[in-house]
Amino acid sequence: MTQQYDIIIIGTGAGGGTMARALAPTGKRILILEKGGFVPRERANFDPHSNWVEKRYTPDVTWYHKDKPFRPSHPHDYVGGNTKFYGAALFRLRERDFEEVEHYDGLSPAWPISYGDLEPYYALGEKWYYVHGQAGSDPTEPTRSAPYPYQPLQHEPRIQQLNDDLAAQGLNPFPLPMGMRMEHDGEEGSSSSLDLWPQFDGYPDPYEIRADSHLVGVRPALQHDNVTLKTHSPVERLEVDESGRKVKKVIVKTEAGETVEYEADLVVVAAGALGSALLFLRSQQDKHPNGLANSTGLVGRNFMGHNNATLIAISKTPNDATFEKTLALADYYWGDEAFKYPMGLIQMLGKFNEDLMKLESPTPLEGMTHAEMASHSLEFWLQSEDLPRLENGISYNTQGQVVFDYTANNVEAATQLRKRLTDFLDCINCHPGTHNVDFYMGGMVGIPLGHTMGTMTMGKNASQSVLDPYCKAHELDNVFVTDGSFFVSAGAVNPTLTIIAQTLRVAEYIKSQVL
Ligand SMILES: Cc1cc2nc3c(=O)[nH]c(=O)nc-3n(C[C@H](O)[C@H](O)[C@H](O)COP(=O)(O)OP(=O)(O)OC[C@H]3O[C@@H](n4cnc5c(N)ncnc54)[C@H](O)[C@@H]3O)c2cc1C
Repeated sequence: MTQQYDIIIIGTGAGGGTMARALAPTGKRILILEKGGFVPRERANFDPHSNWVEKRYTPDVTWYHKDKPFRPSHPHDYVGGNTKFYGAALFRLRERDFEEVEHYDGLSPAWPISYGDLEPYYALGEKWYYVHGQAGSDPTEPTRSAPYPYQPLQHEPRIQQLNDDLAAQGLNPFPLPMGMRMEHDGEEGSSSSLDLWPQFDGYPDPYEIRADSHLVGVRPALQHDNVTLKTHSPVERLEVDESGRKVKKVIVKTEAGETVEYEADLVVVAAGALGSALLFLRSQQDKHPNGLANSTGLVGRNFMGHNNATLIAISKTPNDATFEKTLALADYYWGDEAFKYPMGLIQMLGKFNEDLMKLESPTPLEGMTHAEMASHSLEFWLQSEDLPRLENGISYNTQGQVVFDYTANNVEAATQLRKRLTDFLDCINCHPGTHNVDFYMGGMVGIPLGHTMGTMTMGKNASQSVLDPYCKAHELDNVFVTDGSFFVSAGAVNPTLTIIAQTLRVAEYIKSQVL
């Protein structure tokens, strides 16, 4: 029997979880369909081997890249999606990121919306997601209508020293904006709660301090009687009515092979930039022969994932910090005198311990043990913009296997950014030469699946984009897509706050214009 709702939300990551909380007060009967269950709280949560080698928290599936099979390290199919594992650095795109920008490798296209359209929703998203930061400290920061809702996280001594050494070079390090629920019990918390963390980026958070979309979005939404969550409910297909313009049936196929059908007036798809594109592609049917809403052939294309690198510098003095994700540097975001194109952003990562150091760097640096490396290391995350390209994306091959195509572009910007960091190692009291970790962000070196963007880009022109500027599919009347899919360009800041802000903007539109 088909089950009826007013609204169905598919997926509970940054887009789906935020949408659920935003629409819950409407009183409409809302069903949230989530492919996975809840992340278990267990000892393995903080074990590098379980996380990165056994891939305990990622599905055992095989995808193909240039005919080579691989098991992706992401997505994470859980309530909260990838935000259950993310680094919680919550940045706004810069004003110019919404405009056409010339890069070393070509043009980064303009968005159909401006920074001003999103600004109020960035501010609201920062409140919901407990963002700690310091307005006015980031030299590339866009204009803001309000200061950060929470004070910046305190630097531990070695990071304060790094801050001071960078400032002495005339650079402008600033507090990394972080979404942390240290005040979630209603009392002002303190950075000391961060001592709890042996590992951070890529690990679950059993303490529930990191602001993820399960805690911030789904849990408050479920306080409303009109909202229902069904876990272990992967949506297999979306089927349209006779007009071809309305999704009528949402079909779930459980692991046990059971098929369940749902109907709703409105469907919000937020299965992640990869999951949503795959869902649309496999929803091929008579009225949509190339896949749902895909007469342009653009569904799954224009994938962007950033040019990312983890660089480890070895400090000449010990680094006792337990939580070093408190500092960022944007001085090279738009380029410098020597390289006039945008380069990107540098930020600190979660601290590597000895076990992780062994795993990521099996051969220790000459003259050092892994323990010495871990007690002296400073972990940097370098992030540069990659450009949307038709040939980069996700699709099914004729055997129904998932094919992920990705060839990096704009790599020179990342190379230049890395050079800037290695050039100032001496000034920050580190040994010359950084250690480059080929972080397996996608399950295979060179596959960036941590930040997933593009695949169903927004635009005003229905022949050149999949979604309109409010994320409604051009070819459908009752379907919105609010996850990383809508990105037109990647910028070089972490993407999640923009997913949250655009979701809040779309939720406002749905409440005022659609319901
Ligand atoms: C290790 C790591 C660190 C990161 N650090 C940061 C950071 O510091 N800052 C930042 O901004 N971003 C970071 N990110 C990226 C961030 O996690 C993503 O930008 C964000 O989670 C994307 O949200 P989303 O809604 O697009 O999709 P997702 O979070 O991917 O959520 C998609 C949801 O849809 C569900 N789903 C998928 N298919 C189906 C289906 N067929 N039926 C039902 N449900 C389905 C999934 O289970 C999941 O719940 C990081 C990511 C990783 C992996």
